[in-house]
Amino acid sequence: MTTTTESFAKLCSSAVTDDATPIKSLVFKPKTPKSATPIPIVVIALQSTTTPSSLIAQLTGTKDPRLAKDDLIKTFFAAPSAGEFNLGHLLNNSTSEYHLLIDQHLVDLKDSTILKLNGNLFIEKSKAIEYLNELKVAKLQSNIDFTTEVKPQNTSKQQPKDKKEKKALAPSNATLEDAKLIGITVDKALDFPGWYQQVLTKGEMLDYYDVSGCYILRPTSYAIWENIQTYFDSKIKKMGVRNAYFPMFVSSRVLEKEKDHIEGFAPEVAWVTKAGSSDLEEPVAIRPTSETVIYPYYAKWVQSHRDLPLRLNQWCSVVRWEFKHPQPFLRTREFLWQEGHTAFLSEEEAKEEVLEILHHYANIYKELLAVPVVQGKKTEKEKFAGASFTTTVEGYIPQTGRGIQGGTSHHLGQNFSKMFNLSVENPLGSEHPKVFAYQNSWGLSTRSIGVMVMVHSDNKGLVIPPRVAENQAVIIPVGITKKTSIEQRELIHESAKEIEAQLRKNDIRVFGDYNDNYTPGWKFSQYELKGIPLRIELGPKDFEKQQVVVVRRNDSKKIIVPISELTETLPKIMDDMHEVMYQKAKDAFDTHRVTIHDWKDFVPTLNKKNVIVAPWCGVMECEEDIKDSSARKDDGEEFEVDEKAPSMGAKSLCIPFEQPTMKDGQKCIKCNRNAVNYCMFGRSY
Ligand SMILES: [Zn+2]
Repeated sequence: MTTTTESFAKLCSSAVTDDATPIKSLVFKPKTPKSATPIPIVVIALQSTTTPSSLIAQLTGTKDPRLAKDDLIKTFFAAPSAGEFNLGHLLNNSTSEYHLLIDQHLVDLKDSTILKLNGNLFIEKSKAIEYLNELKVAKLQSNIDFTTEVKPQNTSKQQPKDKKEKKALAPSNATLEDAKLIGITVDKALDFPGWYQQVLTKGEMLDYYDVSGCYILRPTSYAIWENIQTYFDSKIKKMGVRNAYFPMFVSSRVLEKEKDHIEGFAPEVAWVTKAGSSDLEEPVAIRPTSETVIYPYYAKWVQSHRDLPLRLNQWCSVVRWEFKHPQPFLRTREFLWQEGHTAFLSEEEAKEEVLEILHHYANIYKELLAVPVVQGKKTEKEKFAGASFTTTVEGYIPQTGRGIQGGTSHHLGQNFSKMFNLSVENPLGSEHPKVFAYQNSWGLSTRSIGVMVMVHSDNKGLVIPPRVAENQAVIIPVGITKKTSIEQRELIHESAKEIEAQLRKNDIRVFGDYNDNYTPGWKFSQYELKGIPLRIELGPKDFEKQQVVVVRRNDSKKIIVPISELTETLPKIMDDMHEVMYQKAKDAFDTHRVTIHDWKDFVPTLNKKNVIVAPWCGVMECEEDIKDSSARKDDGEEFEVDEKAPSMGAKSLCIPFEQPTMKDGQKCIKCNRNAVNYCMFGRSY
């Protein structure tokens, strides 16, 4: 045993675990004047993560950090030597400040992963992270992506002294001189999850957070959500839906009232059990959805049939404490959504609304996000718990070949109204039995943003469709060299600013980048990374001809537009861009949605990253059989890009409203029963 403190040793086990993940604990000493006390930098990372000192310098705002020698490590952390130092020694220092950087790859590991430390100590990842978070004097920076490129700075004058180090630093120095920020370093086609993470964080859509499964939505992504809100809010208000807000806390009595319903959510419900240090008498749940929160009040408010229909919507967040691998936007423990809850006197009215809402959802995907979806009905197995039936819009992610549910609109029938006694006297007279309301609920979440990113973005970064982009265009002066006169330079800048003002006046969301410290090329890469739909270039030659060059982010298409026609032409360019993006995504979905009739084709077709449309009997056991039988066996085919789901079977995604014509006597794809309709199956998120 080393000299780690007892309290740390208690967290560890010395039982050797063969498949433990090795991690490294490094201490760096930045360059400081001899008279000053250095502030050491501790890096905790996976053994496999490279931790460049140039990046460490940038993250901590220090100069030239080098691996610390034994004496510093002894002084600060009472470890015998650098080689024997591990994170347990951090407890030995409770007085002097140090930087603590934690590798994102480490944070991303499953909580139950066993980590191997120096000194043959083993610790569960969750315990290690908790321990690190509680260190008092550490200036903690967590979730560090050590693959981040170092930003260009003018501090590269100091040449490294020894040759070995000079060689090691060469590539990043080359980047600095080039003054070009290379954004995405992972190929979308080769490492889809790694690419997705980089596109989101480097594109400034989102940041990681220290509660697993929760993420910060930065302005770029929140603006997309606001545009979705604006669109949908105006649609439902026209239908007569009003917005309201119900509390996020649910008593267990209320939550558990509808048995089928709660069974669907129970394992994911988060409970508040304490206030301060005292236990609550009755724990309260955080809403996973609000049916049971809202309907007791509907029962109270609806006194006569004249109080119907009652149609409310709320914009809020919900919490589902998932234990599956979290994925930004797609599977998160807290997410933003809208939930509509409506009650009608007649079944027909209610069912009509279900489809009207679904149509709006499909249009959010098509008209705003340029993403194609298939509309249909969920099977009994996949419908919302407690619903009479569920309708859905289903999308498709080409790189993984998986389907993804994009939004659902449920008809609840009278299931909930009977439970909550949401009823009115029969309009035909009191001698007739009272009528229970027919209800719907419907929701669409920030998951839609993740689908949009996965479908459109590329190896240069985000591609955001123009209708939802926070900024639709950036104006960049180009072609200004040393030979350009000051007058000419100012003329171009002024002209660019005029264009900017003119476009803004016409409700085009535009900004200009007039910073002379960066080259146009560097700016191009920046705004490509951030997915700004259009780049407007204005150079000396353009200025002479009174024109600009407009470049589309999605396909790099260049269009020359006279300045006088710009306000009129830009909206057209953006509409065309939207159409091109939608069509490209639609072609991908259409060619990977394959209709088959023989079971022998099922798994091979699935493995080619397709979703399948097949005749089906509609029986739940058959659906389960299809899922089991299509679970991936190791057949050596190169398919899986998400290591978390290597053997996932095909689920039913929906029964599409648009059905192929069914032959007489057509059998089910899997069993001997007659088919009742075509169902869309696929691996899914
Ligand atoms: Zn069948």
